[in-house]
Amino acid sequence: MAQAIVVRELGGPEVLKLEGVTLSPPGPGEVQIRQVAVGLNFIDVYFRTGLYKSASGLPFVPGKEGAGIVTAVGDGVSLFGIGDRVAYASSDGAYASERNVEASQLVKVPDDISLETAAAMMLKGMTAQYLLNQTFKVGPETTLLFHAAAGGVGLIAGQWAKALGATVIGTAGSQDKIDLALAHGYDHVINYRTDDFVARVKELTDGRGVDVVYDSVGKDTYPASLDCLKSRGLWVSFGNSSGPVDAFSIGILAQKGSLFATRPTLFGYVSTRPALEACANSLFDIVQSNKVRININQTYPLADAGRAHTDLETRKTSGTTLLIP
Ligand code: NDP
Repeated sequence: MAQAIVVRELGGPEVLKLEGVTLSPPGPGEVQIRQVAVGLNFIDVYFRTGLYKSASGLPFVPGKEGAGIVTAVGDGVSLFGIGDRVAYASSDGAYASERNVEASQLVKVPDDISLETAAAMMLKGMTAQYLLNQTFKVGPETTLLFHAAAGGVGLIAGQWAKALGATVIGTAGSQDKIDLALAHGYDHVINYRTDDFVARVKELTDGRGVDVVYDSVGKDTYPASLDCLKSRGLWVSFGNSSGPVDAFSIGILAQKGSLFATRPTLFGYVSTRPALEACANSLFDIVQSNKVRININQTYPLADAGRAHTDLETRKTSGTTLLIP
């Protein structure tokens, strides 16, 4: 019997309970995998609390990121075979020892990348890929601000932005996290719990402001993030770790300097097979080049998913976190 975390009611970390589940054989177009590791993501918190709604309603198995070995394939699957090492960042259901997943959402993991690393990076790394290479084309002329610099996405993005030649400014909530971010590509890191990050960004850019702000904190950094931008700069609002931005009115973009704004999600950038493969291959390339290292800083048994959520929400984690079935 497979083991899975099943959410039967929305709420705090205590609703994450391990259960035995009977897994049906993979359906047409599906692959069954034995999972080696599951990635923890802040988006899992939004689904657990109900900020985002699971397409399948209640109950559901949370989690969007994992890696493992193919154990069975359904009808019509030609891209994968039994024994393949695969990973994904896709629909719910990752918090499980075994699962069925649509083959179209899987990619093969190169031999020199461990399945643990793949599970830790598929969602966070492909997010860094599209944010820095597609939402805005970061290059040597770019100065950017990335909030939550020592987080899962943040540590990958800092290294990647540095590899692209950018001047990289980050924010983080403690001295330990500042030191970690400085060791992962960031040129400057501001403690946004103690310092005025707008004033520090202005100082660091000689009053000009940055070209792009990547803001996954949401409520607590809005609207100050807009004040960090140069005229016609881009505000990329891509998360809500402190709560959603609910007071946004489009007129503020004019008042703050003819700004641009976007609210992207990874799933909008990898919705076709060619887009998914290009994004994943770009991530594999940069990890294989050692320009981006994946820091797995916390590991929990799958049964302790609730404790992992508590640590993530109370800002105790840094880098990436794995749940091990
Ligand atoms: P992180 O590891 O970055 O954890 C979140 C971090 O946010 C914390 O460690 C903390 O860092 C910071 N933070 C600031 N305020 C709060 C608060 N009130 N409560 C909790 N944390 C806070 O998580 P992930 O790497 O999984 O995700 C980062 C963000 O990116 C999330 O908002 C997530 O939803 C978003 N995301 C969006 C995607 C998209 O495509 N749109 C895809 C992937 C992630 P510190 O202590 O330094 O302040």
